[in-house]
Amino acid sequence: MRHRFAPDHYANAILAGDRLLLSQAITLIESRRADDQLLAQQVLERILPETGKSIRIGITGVPGVGKSTFIESFGTYLTSLGHRLAVLTVDPTSQRSGGSLLGDKTRMETLSMNPAAYIRPSPAGDSLGGVGHRTRETMLLCEAAGFDIILVETVGVGQSETVVHGMVDFFLLLMLAGAGDELQGMKRGIMELADALTITKADGDNQLHAKLARLEYQNALHLFPPTGMGWFPPVLTCSATTGIGIADVWVTIHEHQQLTTKNGYRARRRQEQQLTWFRSLLRQRLESRFYEQPGIYDNLIVIEEQVQAGAILPTLAVDMLLR
Ligand code: GDP
Repeated sequence: MRHRFAPDHYANAILAGDRLLLSQAITLIESRRADDQLLAQQVLERILPETGKSIRIGITGVPGVGKSTFIESFGTYLTSLGHRLAVLTVDPTSQRSGGSLLGDKTRMETLSMNPAAYIRPSPAGDSLGGVGHRTRETMLLCEAAGFDIILVETVGVGQSETVVHGMVDFFLLLMLAGAGDELQGMKRGIMELADALTITKADGDNQLHAKLARLEYQNALHLFPPTGMGWFPPVLTCSATTGIGIADVWVTIHEHQQLTTKNGYRARRRQEQQLTWFRSLLRQRLESRFYEQPGIYDNLIVIEEQVQAGAILPTLAVDMLLR
């Protein structure tokens, strides 16, 4: 970062909708430097009263399911209704594979030129939890900047869904027709997290397949235990290329929003998310504090060898290290 301003300067600019300073503040959040982190936290403290007012939507699905095409179409539709939209992408694979699944191609070209939309990819994270924390904080900054809908996109691999589910009001799972659950890498657990399923690419020859898949998934969802909030996750179909079904997704999210606001579920979900966030942050900090101790790695090597050899019990080894 070339220049750093006082926290108030960032906060005021962000509240006034200044995108350049919003982007710079997000860069501070993503920075590993301690002074950047401190500044980022000071900015966050200042904007906090202006956060929490958006509808937070998580979108997931395996690579190729049509996420970016969907977001392009859905996002354009939302802005046509007068909404201001921020799209945050969580890409935990970028660090593991060395290349980014999300970053390789030009994505969401139309939306990226739309003045009512703001797209921000998360950088390669050192840990899934880390990505989650930064995305949460980025979400708060975007809310303060006046975006009233936040889309958090995640690749449907690994545990990133759980992390994203833990920070949104509505979790949308995109699925392909005609591809088995196995093929889509979807575990039952992910379907259980979804507030709605949408079968993508329901156009041309694929329309019939999409309809059949819809019935199939609807039946599958009936077998899940009820969510306890009076909401039954529907299965929809849509085509991002023709635009058919895109508006229905929004209608569904809107209905969910109204129901969960009225019955208090949304507020409760957010409260729980805050607590989970706090606990995982605490765990992460404690862990890094432990590893920051001078000489800890030398100690670890010796103790691990002893544990391996059965010379010392793991419980005792842990006690020794923590002392
Ligand atoms: P992502 O990897 O989940 O982000 O998927 P993409 O949005 O990149 O889409 C993967 C492929 O599916 C691309 O070739 C798209 O053109 C195609 N695709 C996406 N949405 C649709 C759709 O609604 N209809 C059709 N026919 N193709 C689509």
